Amino acid sequence: MTIERLSPGSSLQAFPPPEKWDDWREYDPKAWPRRVERRYMLVPTICFNCEAACGLLAYVDKDRMQVRKFEGNPHHPASRGRNCAKGPATINQINDPERILYPLRREGARGAGRWRRVTWDEVLDDIGGRIRKAFLEGRRNEVMYHVGRPGHERTMDRILKAWGIDGHNSHTNVCSSSARLGYALWSGYDRPSPDHARARFILLLSSHLEAGHYFNPHAQRIIDGKLAGAKLAVMDPRLSNTASMADFWLPTYPGSEAAVLLAMARVLLDEGLADLDYLEKWTNWREYMRDRHPQAETTFGAFVRALKDEYAQFTPAFAEAESGVPAARILAVARLIGAARGAFASHVWRGAASGNEGGWQVARALQLLTVLTASVGTAGGTSPHAWNKYKPAFWEEPKGQKQWNELLFPLEWPLSHYEMSFVLPHLLKEGRGRIDTYFTRVYNPLWTNPDGTMWMDVLRDESLIGLHAALTPVWSETATFADYVLPMGLAGERHDIQSQETQSGRWVSFRQPVLRAARERMGETFDRTYDANPGQVWEEDEFWIDLSWRIDPDGAMGIRRFFESPYEPGRKLTVHEYYRWLFENAVPGLPAAAAAEGLTPFEYMARKGAYLIEPDVQRVHERPAVAPAGVEIGGERVAGFPTPSRKLEIYSRTMVEWGWPDQALPGYIKSHVHPSRLDRDKGEMVLLPTFRLPTLVHTRSGNAKYLNEISHRNPLWVHAEDAARLGLRTGALVRVTTEIGYFVNRAWVTESIAPGIVACSHHLGRWRVNAGEGSRWSTPRVRFQEVDGGTLLRQVEGLGPFPSEDPDSSRIWWTDGGVHQNLTFPVHPDPISGMHCWHQRVVVGRAPVGDRYGDVYVQAGRSMEVFREWLAKTRPAPGPDGLRRPLWLDRPLRPAEEMFKVPETGPRGRGASGGPPLGGTEESG
Ligand code: SF4
Repeated sequence: MTIERLSPGSSLQAFPPPEKWDDWREYDPKAWPRRVERRYMLVPTICFNCEAACGLLAYVDKDRMQVRKFEGNPHHPASRGRNCAKGPATINQINDPERILYPLRREGARGAGRWRRVTWDEVLDDIGGRIRKAFLEGRRNEVMYHVGRPGHERTMDRILKAWGIDGHNSHTNVCSSSARLGYALWSGYDRPSPDHARARFILLLSSHLEAGHYFNPHAQRIIDGKLAGAKLAVMDPRLSNTASMADFWLPTYPGSEAAVLLAMARVLLDEGLADLDYLEKWTNWREYMRDRHPQAETTFGAFVRALKDEYAQFTPAFAEAESGVPAARILAVARLIGAARGAFASHVWRGAASGNEGGWQVARALQLLTVLTASVGTAGGTSPHAWNKYKPAFWEEPKGQKQWNELLFPLEWPLSHYEMSFVLPHLLKEGRGRIDTYFTRVYNPLWTNPDGTMWMDVLRDESLIGLHAALTPVWSETATFADYVLPMGLAGERHDIQSQETQSGRWVSFRQPVLRAARERMGETFDRTYDANPGQVWEEDEFWIDLSWRIDPDGAMGIRRFFESPYEPGRKLTVHEYYRWLFENAVPGLPAAAAAEGLTPFEYMARKGAYLIEPDVQRVHERPAVAPAGVEIGGERVAGFPTPSRKLEIYSRTMVEWGWPDQALPGYIKSHVHPSRLDRDKGEMVLLPTFRLPTLVHTRSGNAKYLNEISHRNPLWVHAEDAARLGLRTGALVRVTTEIGYFVNRAWVTESIAPGIVACSHHLGRWRVNAGEGSRWSTPRVRFQEVDGGTLLRQVEGLGPFPSEDPDSSRIWWTDGGVHQNLTFPVHPDPISGMHCWHQRVVVGRAPVGDRYGDVYVQAGRSMEVFREWLAKTRPAPGPDGLRRPLWLDRPLRPAEEMFKVPETGPRGRGASGGPPLGGTEESG
C-alpha cells in the first residue's frame, strides 16, 4: 500500500515510512524543550479494546525495550492508520501500576479478597488434572468456557471440539443475538455488512459514528459515503452524535422501529419503488403462496397483492402513532431509500434489536428494505457478513462434539440464536445441573449481565460451580469471586488473528506480543510469551496448548494430537507454528504476496500486521454453485444462500413449524415497553440502558487513565418536559425504580431525547469491594449490606489520588466513577431469540431522603419470579422430527448432527408451564 501523505504534494507523511520501521527515530515530546532522540522499532499488532480489530503500531523503545506508545497501523485495510481514543489508550492498560502481573490463587472463602501468588505450572497441574478427571468420569458437560471478547477466529471452536465438550458460552445473548436471528432467518447469515462508502442512502439504527460494532472503520466509510453524496438517516430515540450528523433523525419510541420500517416497505410496494424482478427471482415467495394461499394461483402478481395485504396496516400514519416520528418524515426517507435502489446500506447494531421483546423482527424488517431495493451484496448495498469476513481452516479439524449442554441451549428456546448465557444462574439455581470447572475469559458477567446478584450467589456456591478460573487482563467484579485469577495479555501481549466485516472486501490481521516480536527480530528466542511480557502475563493460545497436554498427557484421550506440531507430529505445538501454518496454508494469496517482498508469510504478517485477501466482494450468491448445493435462478445453477430454500426467505416455514406461525413474515411485535404495557398512572417510563460511549469499553477500559479522565459519569438523560413534571433539574439526585430494585443517579435535563424516555449509558458504575481488586482510576470502593430483606450496594470511598509508580495517579482530579444499573435489571429472555431484552419499565422520581448517589438496591426473591414470567412465554422443543432446534440454523460450537435430536429417554428441559426439571444435564449420548 502507499502511505498516506498529510496533504497532496506534501513531503510530510502521516506515518513513519515502512522502510524505517526497524529503526525509527524521533524526539521525546516529554523531554521538550530539550531535544532527546529516541530510537524505536515499530511493531504492528491489533487493538483489543473492542471487536473492530483496528491496526495498532507499537513504538518499542530499543534502548529500554519498553513500549512507549501505540499509534495506528497504516497497512491495516479497515482502520487505515486511524483509531478511536481507546486504541492509543492501550499504553495505559499495559503500564497500569495496579494491573495483575502473576497468576493468583484464592485463600479463604470466595470473594473474601485474599490471594496467593502461584506458578503457571501449579495452575496447569491443578486445572488440567481436574478437567481430566471430569472427562474420565463422563462429566464432559461440566466444563464450561464463558467468553466476553473472543478476539480471535475459530480458535476456541477447535479447542473445545478437541476436548469433546459442549462447553462454549458467550456474551452474545446480552449483545447481538436478537438482530442475528432476524438476519439468519432471511439468508442463513446472521450479520449485515454494509458498503457505506459507495451507498446512495445509509440508514443506521445505531450510533455508528461514535460507538457500536466496528465503529471506527464504519465511521470512516460512512463519512466517505456522505462526502460522495449519500444521504444519512439515523433511527434513535437519543440525539446521539451520529444522529446530529444525519440528514434525517427519526427519534422512534423504543420498540416501534419495525413498525416504521414496515411502513417504509409498504411505501416502496405502493409507489412502485420496489425492485419486483429481484423479489421474484430471489425470494421464496412460492412457498408463501403454497402455504398461506393454497387455493390461489401461484403467480408472482398474486404474491405481491398478498404481501400488500399483509402490510396493509403499516401506513405512515400508523407508524407515526407507534413511533412518534412524523409520517411525512417517514415517507420522505422511504422514497429516498427507494431511489437508492441497489445502493442502500444499513445497520442495526444494537439498541432497537437488543432492547426489545421481539427486537429480532426489527432486523428482519430492515432487511426487507434491503431486499426490496435489490441491495443485497451490491456495491453500496448490504452484504451478508460472511462474505467479508475471513475464517481460517486448520490442518486437522476435530469433529462436532457428541454432547448437548442444556445449561446453554435449554429446550425452551429452540430458536435461541446463541447460548442462554445470562440465565445460567437461574438454571443452576433451578437444579438443572452443575459446573465442575468454569472459565470466564475477558468477561465480567456479574457486572455486565442483568441480575448480577444472582451471579454473585452462584459464583459463591461451590456446590454449583466447583472451580472458577478468571482469564483476564484486568481486575473485574467477577474475578473477585474466582479461585484463580490468571493474567492474560492485552493488545500488544498476545497472538491472535482477527478479521471483521468492516467493508466490502476480506482481510486478516495479526495481533502479536510486541516486545517478544521486537526481541525476536533482534535474534532472541522465547519458549513462552510470558517470558517477554510484563510480570508473568501470558496469552491464551499457549495456555490452552499446555493445558490440553496436561489433560491428555499421553494422547490416549485423543485430545493431545490436536495440540501437536503440524510440522513434527508428536511434539508440542508452538504458538509460532500455529500461525506459521495458517499463514502458509490457509490465507489465499498471502504466500505469493510475501514472496514478492522476499518474506515468509509469517514474516509478512509480523512486519505488516494485516493482509487484504480480496479488495471487493459482491454478489456471491450469484456465483456458480458448487454441486450439489445451490439453486436454479433464471436457468442457471448458482450458489444462493444457506437457507432451506437456498433463497432469501421472506417467508419462514421454520417459524411456522416451530410454533410461531404468526411470525412467519417480517413483522412487528409490540415490545415489553410498548406504551400499552406501561402503567402511566404509576408514572412508568422507559429506560434505555444500553448506549455506549465512544471512549470506554465495558470492563477493560477501567484501567486506562486517559479514558477515565475523559469519561467518568453516566447521568440519567431526562427530557425537559419530564423534568418539569418531576421537578428535576440537572444535577438533582433521582431514584430509578425497576421491577427488582432501584439505583440512584443524577439527572441531566436535555431535549436530546424524546419525552417519556430516560437513558443512562453503559460502561460506568464499576466498583471494588476489597483493596487491590479493582482499578482505582475508575472504581469507588463499595459495601454490600442486607437492607429490608434485599441487598444494598453503597459507595464508601470515592475516587481520588493514590500513590503509585505512575505520578499521574497522584493527579486524579475526578471523584466520580458513574452509577451501576445492571444489578437492578431482572432477566428478560426473549421467547424466540433468547436475547435479553434490555429496556426497562421504570419509575423515575426525586431521590428520597437517605438515598445516596450511586446506591443500588435489589429486592430478594423477585429475580426468579421475573425469570419464570418470561420462561412461561416460550414454546419449547421438540420441533419437527423430534429436534431440539432446526438443523439448518447454525449454533456456536455446532455438535454432531445426532445431538440435535431430543433423546427418547434422558434429559428434558422444563416445559413452558413450569414444574420441576425432568432431567438435568447428564450426558445425552
Ligand atoms: S474502534 Fe477503537 S477500540 Fe475498537 S478496535 Fe478500533 S481503535 Fe480499538
